[in-house]
Amino acid sequence: MDLFFTREDRAFRDEVRAFLQSELSPELRRRVEEGRALSKDEVVGWQRILNTRGWATPSWPKEWGGPGWTAVEKHIFLDELHRAGAPEPLSFNVSMLGPVLIAFGSESQKSYFLPRAANLDDWWAQGFSEPGAGSDLAALSTTAVREGDHYIVNGQKIWQGMAHRADWMFTLVRTDPQAPKKQMGISFLLIDLRSPGIEIRPIITIDGRHEVNEVFLDNVRVPIENRIGEENKGWTYAKYLMSNERTGIARTGITKRILQRIRTEATSLPASSRVIVLTETARLEAELMALEFTQLRVLASMTEGVPDPRSSMLKIKGTELRQDASELLLRTVGEDAREFTYEGEDEAPHDIASNFFTLRAASIYGGANEVQKNILAKTILGQ
Ligand SMILES: Cc1cc2nc3c(=O)[nH]c(=O)nc-3n(C[C@H](O)[C@H](O)[C@H](O)COP(=O)(O)OP(=O)(O)OC[C@H]3O[C@@H](n4cnc5c(N)ncnc54)[C@H](O)[C@@H]3O)c2cc1C
Repeated sequence: MDLFFTREDRAFRDEVRAFLQSELSPELRRRVEEGRALSKDEVVGWQRILNTRGWATPSWPKEWGGPGWTAVEKHIFLDELHRAGAPEPLSFNVSMLGPVLIAFGSESQKSYFLPRAANLDDWWAQGFSEPGAGSDLAALSTTAVREGDHYIVNGQKIWQGMAHRADWMFTLVRTDPQAPKKQMGISFLLIDLRSPGIEIRPIITIDGRHEVNEVFLDNVRVPIENRIGEENKGWTYAKYLMSNERTGIARTGITKRILQRIRTEATSLPASSRVIVLTETARLEAELMALEFTQLRVLASMTEGVPDPRSSMLKIKGTELRQDASELLLRTVGEDAREFTYEGEDEAPHDIASNFFTLRAASIYGGANEVQKNILAKTILGQ
């Protein structure tokens, strides 16, 4: 493939930039750039603006409301969004649940849930991890037992991002505890979070934010028609979802924005320190450019709808670079990073220190980086 953007790609990039210029409010841009938590209304409002333009679901096929972009166009779009300080479409809805529904959902599940997910009429949470099942996700023990035309679900999930805002949760449950392998006997269920028997408890993380939660399920009744695909085949659908989740996780545009901020902050440093900071910034920029080319190569060679195991590489390098950039920013501003404010329930503390702490988790969620290295060793190096 051509690693440089074609004239059409550049024209597309200009179109995205013009759109962001006219549609993204300065207030929303400022809040994203300052790393503040966005309110539910802000996230929903922005996604609806994208949806009206037909851009809320970059990776969905046209048939289901996607824009029909090439891999390069998808990359350009997300990169421009991140650079401009615009929120990306809610990943739980758009890059996790959506592709699974399109590939494995029934016609009625697709026609009901997909338009609602695109327009954020439903906010989805991911109910995969459990206290005893993180990296070893197949060890999950939440059970779903059939009773007539319902499953009765019991168990505990943990680390559910934004579950306190969500309407629905896609989840993995054990439907056959006798299955010979732990990856078997798992099913993929869609659970309405307003169902009786669900309790959502907040977890406040070191950055002072409330993003993650524990979800307790006590005799929750879930209609059988809310199962995706076949019973006991949930692991296949989950693997597909997780690989899609990793492809978009490099988020090069966010790192570019942090590096740009470092360049701005560095102007107020004494010359000797400035040289050190700018040298380090240039090194990160070079690595970021290499990552971006790798991402384009992976995206271009991916057959439509078939996740590529090399997405694990993007996840590892993308998160490492974001972490390195946020650490360099922290070092650049020095003791100013100590200003650490908390503004109440729906507001997160903002600023550089909080974002530095937030990004420590990026190498853990979406599958810990150590585990991504195992995936690369097995699927690509054949070890
Ligand atoms: C901020 C945040 C948001 C999250 N959001 C969600 C969400 O919305 N929904 C959801 O379901 N989950 C979510 N998670 C959970 C996340 O997917 C898990 O934290 C992750 O899979 C790791 O699992 P664990 O925390 O149980 O750690 P463990 O699996 O116990 O791992 C602990 C350490 O051991 C290492 N390790 C484990 N196994 C191996 C191995 N085989 N080889 C080498 N090293 C290994 C890991 O790399 C890690 O460093 C979130 C987590 C965080 C921190």
